[in-house]
Amino acid sequence: MGIFADHHLEIRRSVRDFVEREIIPIAHDLDNQEAEIPMPIIQKMADLGYFGLIFPEEYDGMGLDSLSMALVTEELSRGWLSVGSVMTRMIITGTLLWHAGTEEQKKRFLPKISRGELLTAAAFTEPDVGSDTGGMKCRAIREGDNYILRGEKTWCTFANRAHVLTVLARTDADPSKRHKGLSMFLVEKEPGDDFDPPKLAGSPIPTIGYKGMKSYSLGFDGYEVPSENLLGGEEGKGFYQLMPTYEYARIQTAARAVGVAQASLEAAIQYAKDRTQFGKPIAEHQVIRHKIAHMATDIEAARQLCYAAAMKKDQGERADLEAGYAKAFAAEMAERVTSEALQVFGGYGYSREYPVQRYWRDARVFRIFEGTSEIQYEVIAKRLLDNR
Ligand SMILES: Cc1cc2nc3c(=O)[nH]c(=O)nc-3n(C[C@H](O)[C@H](O)[C@H](O)COP(=O)(O)OP(=O)(O)OC[C@H]3O[C@@H](n4cnc5c(N)ncnc54)[C@H](O)[C@@H]3O)c2cc1C
Repeated sequence: MGIFADHHLEIRRSVRDFVEREIIPIAHDLDNQEAEIPMPIIQKMADLGYFGLIFPEEYDGMGLDSLSMALVTEELSRGWLSVGSVMTRMIITGTLLWHAGTEEQKKRFLPKISRGELLTAAAFTEPDVGSDTGGMKCRAIREGDNYILRGEKTWCTFANRAHVLTVLARTDADPSKRHKGLSMFLVEKEPGDDFDPPKLAGSPIPTIGYKGMKSYSLGFDGYEVPSENLLGGEEGKGFYQLMPTYEYARIQTAARAVGVAQASLEAAIQYAKDRTQFGKPIAEHQVIRHKIAHMATDIEAARQLCYAAAMKKDQGERADLEAGYAKAFAAEMAERVTSEALQVFGGYGYSREYPVQRYWRDARVFRIFEGTSEIQYEVIAKRLLDNR
């Protein structure tokens, strides 16, 4: 039982069931075809309440804790990283609304997000601005009752399927205002691959992994956003509104990394028992045995960091440091572990025949998104050395 209450064990069991039945049988073929997650799967996730998991019941959420979010995410990502990552978008938009939205905005958007009627995506990164958020250039200029968006965003994952994009844009023309000049907008759009050019253009970015969702370059050229869609109703708060969201997103990303690594460990264990070399299963060669043992130990360390960060958050405490530890460690762990799993498969690991290559390609992104490892360690160092 340990740290888990009955409802944690129950939700983990039910997600595992869903993943075994609905995700694992299709993930490998769809990834090989570079196909997106089928919409009926996303609908089932919505029906199971995954998108509203942590939001209060008054906004049609399930009112569960961050530890439940970590467990659900881990299990979904064990099936297919892309599936565990659909949830991330709703967590980002939903926590922004929950913590920084006006009551009117919460009532308007949050129940529909919880129920999966509104799918969302996050458009923060720009072609020239990734880690250095304060340097963002995309502009939102007030004209009457609207803001007019002009500028470019990139890597907006799931943008095609989203009904709402959370867009961080510069409302203060003075670039020296840096973070203080940024505001967050809830940008409504029609779902679909066509977008709304020339006001909103979108083109998919080819990637080496993470293929169940497409990431898009977006161009805004005169796209109108009603002023009531400015998050919290106040300009200049966008970057600061992201702080609680970063904690949830980093815990959730650590859980995604644990899930993918766990899948690769299970695959490696099975293969090591099945594959015979030098007259015995490779699982009986000590080097392979120890590889498996190291992988499992590495995964467990990341899992515990993730759960510890989630529990700190659930106690209502600041958890940015713990979420940073978990995200940074789990990202590197997933790269190590999935690479070792591939190694256990030898040449077969490098073919498209087995899913182990997908785990490795997918795992490579963890050190890049949701704050690169370098930025993550910088944030951790600031807390420890400068008490910020
Ligand atoms: C598959 C995928 C999906 C993504 N999905 C989304 C999404 O949905 N929405 C979204 O907004 N973004 C998304 N991103 C973008 C992602 O968040 C950025 O790629 C990330 O923040 C890094 O920004 P960058 O790529 O511009 O790299 P840069 O910031 O240019 O960094 C380049 C390198 O320099 C290092 N570096 C930068 N600054 C420092 C410093 N001060 N000290 C030390 N090293 C430094 C970085 O760590 C990195 O190694 C996604 C990215 C990928 C690959």
